[in-house]
Amino acid sequence: MTTFVTGLRRNESTGRNGYTEVDQNPMVPITQLNPMLDWTEDDVWSYINAYGLPVNPLYEHFSRIGCWCCPHKSSSEWQKIQRMFPQKAALLKKNLENLTDRLGIKDKQTFIDEYGWTYWIHSTKKVSIGINTVCQGGNSTTIILAADSGDQLERIAKLLPALTSDFRIIGNRLQVNLKDISEQRLRILVERALNCVGCGACLSNCVNCALHLENGNIAVDVNSCTQCHACLKTYPLKGSCIARHYSPRRAALIALDESSGTG
Ligand code: SF4
Ligand code: SF4
Repeated sequence: MTTFVTGLRRNESTGRNGYTEVDQNPMVPITQLNPMLDWTEDDVWSYINAYGLPVNPLYEHFSRIGCWCCPHKSSSEWQKIQRMFPQKAALLKKNLENLTDRLGIKDKQTFIDEYGWTYWIHSTKKVSIGINTVCQGGNSTTIILAADSGDQLERIAKLLPALTSDFRIIGNRLQVNLKDISEQRLRILVERALNCVGCGACLSNCVNCALHLENGNIAVDVNSCTQCHACLKTYPLKGSCIARHYSPRRAALIALDESSGTG
């Protein structure tokens, strides 16, 4: 049996409170062992001192070590990164500048220099896509998705076969017929398709390896997908997608649906 062993501790975050010593990792579908779950930070240092274990020298400067560009760092930790690793800090700044240009973010001072990017403060650009139920009868529902860009519909259409094959694009609209499928499933799929940033974290959720990235966006291979819908359930990956879960665009989509009912 393949397993991997972590040094995760329960009191590191509220999310880790729910972990168990023998766990399943949704990102890497193998058994995960967390033997130090109930250790305190003092326990860890006592153990290191008792056994004379080597310590990463970065612990002289940081209380926690992870990816150097982790957005969960405090502003004082970022200042240390800038002092200690100026080349990495410059690289990050350059990438953030490119990002602000790409997303049309005007307030670069807040986004880059005041670490606004760590909260993912991107422009409040509205995703003008509405979900409108046009016909409901028996166990069948017809939905129209209206978008203001072909790119949006294309992104949705690349993932839609995971839910249903019964859809067609008509101009800037997508007509989807749902039989025995809830609108909520469609909503999750649409939000995920629109918010995908191509991180690849959800690909392993499909046992048939039907999910892949196409031009940096999530897509499904119609020949491998069995429409089991496992990848559309909110568990194990929250909201089925990391970006969907955290993106402010999610709220925009819901607000538009409730207020205007695009038809
Ligand atoms: S987890 Fe979300 S953002 Fe990442 S590849 Fe999957 S759909 Fe895209
Ligand atoms: S998990 Fe199921 S529905 Fe999702 S892509 Fe794989 S086979 Fe298709």
